[in-house]
Amino acid sequence: MRRPFSRAANQIKRMKTIIFFYFLLLPVLLVAQSKSEPYVVVLGVAQDGGYPHTGCLKHCCAAAWDNDSLKRFVVSLAVVDPVESKWWLFEATPDFKQQLQYFHKLTGGKYNYLPAGIFVTHAHMGHYTGLMHLGKEVMSTRYEPVYCMPKMAAFLQSNGPWSQLVNYNNILIRQLVADSPVTLSPSISVVPFIVPHRDEYSETAGFKIVTSVKKYLFIPDINKFELWNRDIIEQVKAVDVALIDATFYDYNDLPNLHHTSVPHPIVVETMEKFGPCDAATRSKIHFIHFNHTNPMLWDESVRAEVHKKGFNYAVQGETL
Ligand SMILES: [Zn+2]
Ligand SMILES: [Zn+2]
Ligand SMILES: [Zn+2]
Repeated sequence: MRRPFSRAANQIKRMKTIIFFYFLLLPVLLVAQSKSEPYVVVLGVAQDGGYPHTGCLKHCCAAAWDNDSLKRFVVSLAVVDPVESKWWLFEATPDFKQQLQYFHKLTGGKYNYLPAGIFVTHAHMGHYTGLMHLGKEVMSTRYEPVYCMPKMAAFLQSNGPWSQLVNYNNILIRQLVADSPVTLSPSISVVPFIVPHRDEYSETAGFKIVTSVKKYLFIPDINKFELWNRDIIEQVKAVDVALIDATFYDYNDLPNLHHTSVPHPIVVETMEKFGPCDAATRSKIHFIHFNHTNPMLWDESVRAEVHKKGFNYAVQGETL
């Protein structure tokens, strides 16, 4: 014989099950879903010389020499496709060795230690010299794809020690064509483009990384935005996240240089330029590629000021 309260007890049990599914299992399912979407991880934020900077004993680097938590790697990104279980590295920096290990640790060893390909913007030391770790002396990789523009490709093919990586098939150069997308996976493609910079050995590329979820603009090095044949404001508006050159904060960074000879955008000028834009546009900007003298690396009040104006700055280890 059923007891009168058994029906109520069953209802409570059913409700408990519903609560369990909605409040405990649902977030787990949502996390699982979001983890299947492509994403970008910041593996480094500093200018070519890293932070601290070789030979700098001034106040900008003093604390960082003695405190590992203040050190920052040279600018680099990992672009990850969890469904395909692949990742791509953007820039082969002098910190390449630490950055591969950093990505391996951040992702719990879920991905191949080597990326499925390496994208390189240009032939300045902070952006390609990490390739040396792929050679016979270290990893001795086989046909590691390196994506770069034609002059960069010719530079690697015809100058030692890089030519040895090509001749021994440690790397396989995949030459890019400006403004032609390269499909990396069903949910990720990359569009290279040319930007003005000091082009001694190669042209300088920027990349638009288009995923099924977000679009990213990556311009670690560029001369003044005004010298580009594209409108930086329109370019930023067309993406969700814009990681752009913030080598110098203001002209105090460069006491010995005349304003007109500084071949980079200045953060305060970039903020002024985007000042009239709406908050949504300003917040897309994530400053990156900080010179050691840029206080955004070491002065919390300057970082707070940047945030207050509605802009963001790239943080090493963050997922975007
Ligand atoms: Zn650089
Ligand atoms: Zn310094
Ligand atoms: Zn450069």
